Amino acid sequence: MADPHRVAENLARVRHRIAEAAVQSGRTSEAVTLVAVTKYLDLETIRTLVDLGCRDLGESRPQQLWQRAAALHDPAVRWHMIGHLQRNKVERTLPLVAVVHSCDSTRLAEAIDRAAAAQAVGPAAVLVEVNIAADPAKHGFAAEDVAAALVQLAGLPHVAVRGLMAMAGRPDDPGAARHDFRRLRELRDRLRHECPAGIHLDELSMGMSGDYEVAIEEGATIVRIGSALVEGAAG
Ligand SMILES: *Cc1c(COP(=O)(O)O)cnc(C)c1O
Repeated sequence: MADPHRVAENLARVRHRIAEAAVQSGRTSEAVTLVAVTKYLDLETIRTLVDLGCRDLGESRPQQLWQRAAALHDPAVRWHMIGHLQRNKVERTLPLVAVVHSCDSTRLAEAIDRAAAAQAVGPAAVLVEVNIAADPAKHGFAAEDVAAALVQLAGLPHVAVRGLMAMAGRPDDPGAARHDFRRLRELRDRLRHECPAGIHLDELSMGMSGDYEVAIEEGATIVRIGSALVEGAAG
C-alpha cells in the first residue's frame, strides 16, 4: 500500500498547483475539477484520497472501474470513465459513472443512448473525445469531424454532450502539449457558435500529471491526474 502521508502531500501539492494555474488563466480553483485517476492505486490508497476530499475518481479500463466502484461502494464518489469504452461494456458501465469522457464514435454514442433509455437513468453525460494530436494510435474523432458528430449526437435524446476531451500528443513536453490544448479550446470556441440545440460544450477535459498546469492555463475545466498523486509513495 502507498504511504498515506506521501499521498496526502502529493494531493496538497497538486491542488496548490491547480489553484495557481487557475489564477494564471483568470479563474479560481473551483473552476477546475480534479479527477483522481485510480488505475495505479490500491483500494486503501483510493480510500485515503476519498477521505482527503477527492470525490471525482477516474478509471481508464471498464472492468477495473466496475471492480473498484463495487469495492469502494461509496455513494459520495462520482466515477469518470476516461478510457476507451467498448460498446458491449456500456450497459454495465453506465449506471456506475457520472460522466463518460471517452465518447469516441457515433456508434458508441448510439449504444450509450440505447442503454440510458433502457435503464431510465436520465440522459448520460458524455464528453466528445477528440484526437487533437492526430495520433493514429489514439482514439477520438478527428478535429475536422467533430462538427458533424455533434449534429448526430444532438439527435440522441438520452445522451447529453457536456464538452470535449483530449490527450496531448506528447504529454511530457508541456510546450507541445500547450499547443494541442490551445487547439482543442479554439475548436470548442468555434463549435459553440454553430452547435446544435441541446449540445453544451462548457467542459474541457484535458491535462494529466505531466501537463495539467498548461492545460488549465489553456482553459481546462477538468484535469485527470494519476501518477502525480502516488509519486514517491510506493510501499
Ligand atoms: C492514465 C490516464 C490519465 C492519468 O495519467 P497520469 O499521467 O498518470 O496522470 C489521464 N487520462 C487518461 C485517459 C488516462 O488513461
